[in-house]
Amino acid sequence: TRVVEAEATGDERALEAALRPRTLDEVVGQERVREQLALVLEAARGRGRAPDHVLLSGPPGLGKTTLAMIIAAEMGSPLRLTSGPAITHAGDLAAILSGMNEGDVLFVDEIHRMSRPAEEMLYMAMEDFRVDVVIGKGPGATAIPLEIPPFTLVGATTRAGLLPGPLRDRFGFTGHLEFYEPRELDLIVNRSAGLLDVALTDDGSAEIASRSRGTPRIANRLLRRVRDYAQVRADGVITLDVARRALELYEVDESGLDRLDRGVLDVLCRRFGGGPVGVSTLAVAVGEERETVEEVAEPFLVRSGLLARTPRGRVATPAAWRHLGLAVPRQQQV
Ligand code: ADP
Repeated sequence: TRVVEAEATGDERALEAALRPRTLDEVVGQERVREQLALVLEAARGRGRAPDHVLLSGPPGLGKTTLAMIIAAEMGSPLRLTSGPAITHAGDLAAILSGMNEGDVLFVDEIHRMSRPAEEMLYMAMEDFRVDVVIGKGPGATAIPLEIPPFTLVGATTRAGLLPGPLRDRFGFTGHLEFYEPRELDLIVNRSAGLLDVALTDDGSAEIASRSRGTPRIANRLLRRVRDYAQVRADGVITLDVARRALELYEVDESGLDRLDRGVLDVLCRRFGGGPVGVSTLAVAVGEERETVEEVAEPFLVRSGLLARTPRGRVATPAAWRHLGLAVPRQQQV
């Protein structure tokens, strides 16, 4: 797996637990969502009721799980965690819902990946705090209504647009998480370094922040890798020089691109004259699956303004040529 992967890798969840902000005040950035959520929670506390269901949308690694945990903590309620792909049958969801107590917070990660029958059961549970559990099959099947104590659903999705309208409409509040500014990632790196008891200089921390692709999860992971380097190859302190050497070793460049990202740009510019070229051809040329190029490398290249998706294929932007240290071809300069 890549060091710049935005999803949690392997047993990383355990390492991350130590670095999670525990209150809304500890959360760095996302001012708008934070303020909106603070209001929702305070109002619910004032009424002595479970808050409205909350939908959090945004790319992986930006803090959706963290916010769900904070919502539960601020309400003084237990949190149950599950995910869309884990709920393959409506029965799986019924089992979870029937075990809930009043005021519990249920976090469903990747909620857009739930099965259709489970989704329909969830609509009803969210709206009426009731589900129909079907017992038996065929003509003898009976639906037994089951009351659910009022709870708060926190759903997370990479894109709110992936959710069917009826499900989206049942959330009282939707928070969109944005990529973080380098300045905010710098604060996160410093905070994490404090928790991990790692010494780092201001420019060392800024260097890690600027290569973290706007994503706290990646910032924290790069910090752990650079810490290893500092401990083994230096005197333990993360300076600018140590950060640069370590990240060079892990092949993360100054814009946060890794080997795969640069490979795609390199093939696109050097072999195909900057495109347009079809993604399948591009994938073969870098020796990767089409999906890997499309889902792993491209989103960040597009976001960074290095690659454009056009109807005729992928095109390198002038910034891509410059990034590779190549002269921008004349026909691309316009
Ligand atoms: P998601 O659920 O969106 O994939 P997580 O909530 O699991 O993301 O966050 C990933 C990691 O990044 C966690 O270790 C968390 O501590 C850190 N993190 C995310 N958002 C913030 C933030 N706003 N401030 C500080 N740390 C954050």
